[in-house]
Amino acid sequence: MSPTATRAPRRLPLSDGRTVELRVRKSRRARRMILRVLPFGAGVEVVLPPGVGEAEGLDFSRRRAGWIQSHLEEQLPRVPFGDGARIPFLGETLILRHCPRMRGAVRREEGELRVAGDMAHLPRRVADWLKARAREEISPRAHGMAERLGRRVERIGLRDPRTRWGSCSAKGGLSFSWRLVLAPVPVLDYVVAHETAHLVEHNHSPAFWGVVEKLVGDPCEQRQWLRRFGPDLHRYG
Ligand SMILES: [Zn+2]
Repeated sequence: MSPTATRAPRRLPLSDGRTVELRVRKSRRARRMILRVLPFGAGVEVVLPPGVGEAEGLDFSRRRAGWIQSHLEEQLPRVPFGDGARIPFLGETLILRHCPRMRGAVRREEGELRVAGDMAHLPRRVADWLKARAREEISPRAHGMAERLGRRVERIGLRDPRTRWGSCSAKGGLSFSWRLVLAPVPVLDYVVAHETAHLVEHNHSPAFWGVVEKLVGDPCEQRQWLRRFGPDLHRYG
């Protein structure tokens, strides 16, 4: 059973004439109204505790339009996959180049990711290339770490979830965000170790963190990186 319910989004006017998408979410667990600016153009969310109506939530959001506007201005812009776009890749930067007459589909050369064919296919080709690299980087790591722990990874899925980097199912399947290839290598290592460690400890107990540490050492820095810069990885594509 879900403790929350989301209503269809509305638009909230800002003082500069723009409007922003506003989602109203009811939560049985919330104690008070909470207003959040969602990352990367996803708009604003207002969370209503039990007993607070939608009208009250809208009013609350309207009164904070100035605060919303200043937060929106601080957000970094989206980076669509297009010619000249710079994307982070395992601690390096790749510049996307459209090379219509190049042979093959996608080639990584001299700090560039060169993409052949029609411009219209470039975004999908870049995304496919990144997902293939993600699988290539994540699979051997996960299988290797599982082996060290005397466990087996049943399957590895790649997804694009908004709020998590990985998950581990009770049946031994691991799932990861393909966007981890946009992060530095030690961060990718940590997330793989985290999910693989769940094959042994299905919780976040001190024993679990002991397993993570055995695999990749103290992950404090990597966790901090994800908290601070992780949301940025959703800007790309
Ligand atoms: Zn976990």
